[in-house]
Amino acid sequence: MGPPISEDKTKRARTAILWLSGCAGCEAAILSLGRSLIQLYQGLLMDAFFLVEDRLPFSSQDTHYDYLLFTGAVATEGQLALVEEGRRRSKRIIALGTCATHGGIPAMANRLGLGEVAKEINPSTKRSGSVLPKFLPDVLALDEVVTVDLLVPGCPPSPKELKGLLKAMGHMGPRPTGGKSVCDHCPMERQGRFETKILRRLLPGSYPPSATLGNRCLLEEGFLCLGPVTLAGCGADGPPLCLKAHVPCRGCYGPVPGCHNQLLGMATILSTHGVSLEGLLDPGGLNRFIGAHGIYTR
Ligand code: SF4
Ligand code: SF4
Ligand code: SF4
Repeated sequence: MGPPISEDKTKRARTAILWLSGCAGCEAAILSLGRSLIQLYQGLLMDAFFLVEDRLPFSSQDTHYDYLLFTGAVATEGQLALVEEGRRRSKRIIALGTCATHGGIPAMANRLGLGEVAKEINPSTKRSGSVLPKFLPDVLALDEVVTVDLLVPGCPPSPKELKGLLKAMGHMGPRPTGGKSVCDHCPMERQGRFETKILRRLLPGSYPPSATLGNRCLLEEGFLCLGPVTLAGCGADGPPLCLKAHVPCRGCYGPVPGCHNQLLGMATILSTHGVSLEGLLDPGGLNRFIGAHGIYTR
């Protein structure tokens, strides 16, 4: 944890948004705030944000930040050095998006190890560092590398959450956090009993249209929905985004507090209701967004 941020509300907070291993969707989500982003920018002194301007952070030895936001997971030696340097130079470090908070999709590489994945991609590459950057043995979440002051999961975080975060930073204040699950915000009707003991597959053509499904909880209908073990927030104050489209939650906000492993959480819920996991081709895929923190043991 860095030193306290100044309470002087007239001072603009020096900030940079730095990209590690991710898809740039978090940056795109910030940009999609549109006009309100311009307003929010007025409270910040934005030093580097690669989607907006081609400027490198840490350009001078004296540059120090009030906030550094990192998107993406830590996968290379260069990224590790950047994060460590950022920690030395910033009062607050914010992990933005599920890649930064839990490893996200890049951390699926941990099932094999980064070196093995690099060989799969390019068999002629003998080792990382020759053509590709020097990989770490595993993809890491930000808090495995440095102390992180604020974790903001979401793939990407919802616009409302991003706006609230940037606004809070502009006023140098704290940001409220919550700990509810996707189910807590879901309008689908739960009856406390499952209609099937075998999970139904989401195959093209087999998924019933929303008109047929009605408003019954998808999990109770036999579709694997990770709502019970996934942190709420994607729909802001409204219904969760996927459920709005009658699509099961895939867990992109990462686990609810107290559940560090979404696969184990779901297995417990399903076995309580006598539902078999047999129909599931790749159970490890239930942790597809949270592969850092040693979730996949090889
Ligand atoms: S959290 Fe999602 S949107 Fe953000 S960088 Fe990672 S994959 Fe992309
Ligand atoms: S399991 Fe899925 S469909 Fe059912 S209430 Fe939770 S989020 Fe909604
Ligand atoms: S419903 Fe689940 S998978 Fe869909 S956006 Fe929300 S948290 Fe992510």
